[in-house]
Amino acid sequence: MSSARESLPGTPRPAAPRPESPQRPLPVVEFHDVSKVFNPGTPGAFTALEHLTFSIEDFPGRGEFIGIVGPSGCGKSTFLNLLAGFKEVSPPTSGEILVRGRPIQGPGIDRGMVFQKYSSFPHLTVRQNVRFGLEINRKRSGLSDAVIESEARQWIEKVGLSGHEDKYPHQLSGGQQQRVAIARCLALKPRILLMDEPFSALDEPTRLDMQKLLVELWVEIEATVFLVTHSITEAVYLGDRVWIFTRSPGRIGKEFRDIPVSPRGVPALEFQKSGAFQDAVQRVAAEFRAVDQTMGASTAKAR
Ligand code: ADP
Repeated sequence: MSSARESLPGTPRPAAPRPESPQRPLPVVEFHDVSKVFNPGTPGAFTALEHLTFSIEDFPGRGEFIGIVGPSGCGKSTFLNLLAGFKEVSPPTSGEILVRGRPIQGPGIDRGMVFQKYSSFPHLTVRQNVRFGLEINRKRSGLSDAVIESEARQWIEKVGLSGHEDKYPHQLSGGQQQRVAIARCLALKPRILLMDEPFSALDEPTRLDMQKLLVELWVEIEATVFLVTHSITEAVYLGDRVWIFTRSPGRIGKEFRDIPVSPRGVPALEFQKSGAFQDAVQRVAAEFRAVDQTMGASTAKAR
């Protein structure tokens, strides 16, 4: 039986930028009182996120995996898009977002995003898709064409797509298309990986395969991962922590930490049948309902 520690997150705002030190590296990601209002100052103004504050520490050689669940429309994608620095949502209406101590100024190579769909270019082959980001960053990275080709080949192999290099996305299954998207993203070795319902469109066996693949690759790339999913099972299986977002305006209503971690070598399905895992899923599910009802009721009252 696992002993999940449950706590509400909250980190005081730093008084001044802090220098990095080997003893205490800067957090990977910090949100300080971040809110996002769409169409502010108009009758259609809508607060998607409110007072979002948290800090994710930088563990040497190992990124954390944060699984995020919450009711539809509660701001999960808005959160990921803000962290990605996409111009459609950035900057936040108020508050501050820092990546390794620096305010984000738009998308960056340190953050990679995998969406539910359309993550790959339909007019490019698997090989060209995986090469794409590496080529764009060639000026900065100084990689030769031979190294780019070799990196692309390695990532295609790691995601299990060797032999499919010259196919276009429409010639691949949904799971294979997501493998291309993951390879494309991870080839750039992002420090932070943002995933928005990446496996939602896949059937259950493929989804389990992809979860397994993600765990394997995550260990290798050592990125901090934020994964939004509508599956509590998936969030508990993949996450070191699980956040439950409240109904809009979205906030972290509950955080679960120290949830059971799959022992090495145990197949996903077997571990997911274990008592410890089932117990954690049930506790998160119960809390999901409680957060949803409490917050839903208070929002309704406030209106
Ligand atoms: P989730 O990912 O949790 O389903 P989203 O982050 O996509 O939620 O959206 C949160 C809320 O913000 C939704 O009610 C959505 O309609 C609204 N929203 C998202 N983008 C915009 C936008 N560009 N303009 C106005 N409202 C938006």
